[in-house]
Amino acid sequence: MLKDEECAGFIKDLLGRVATDQNPLVEGGDILKIYDLINSSKQGGMVRAGAPGSVAGANYALGTIATHNARIQIGVTIPSPATAAGDAPIGLHETIHHAGQHVYFDSDLAKGVSGKTHTPIEWQGRRPTGGPDDRFIYSQYWNAELKKHCK
Ligand SMILES: [Zn+2]
Repeated sequence: MLKDEECAGFIKDLLGRVATDQNPLVEGGDILKIYDLINSSKQGGMVRAGAPGSVAGANYALGTIATHNARIQIGVTIPSPATAAGDAPIGLHETIHHAGQHVYFDSDLAKGVSGKTHTPIEWQGRRPTGGPDDRFIYSQYWNAELKKHCK
């Protein structure tokens, strides 16, 4: 996916919108380097939902690069786990969260996408209200844009 210039360009632009002095980019925003760093002995690696060390739920960017416990959890993809094509887009999404030293939240990334596309943040007609579903709305909103560019 990252070999595609449209995908790489979209991510570079998005990271440029969310990076701050307080939460700077990891590895200059190089997604493959960040992925390798997460999977190095310096960070927390990958975990499959339901496996030892996982947390309840499906897909997460756990910990942070700054605290040396950055980890990616990927849910169980049905019907074909492990090497399923479905894991790669999730891995990309969660790696983008870890592109910030202190993690870029779904809300940060949604605002970045909204600033780029000039579209309101919403998912299936629902907008953030300050409630517990906001994280899901933010996540789905920016992930939908990611999927348009990274196939
Ligand atoms: Zn997310």
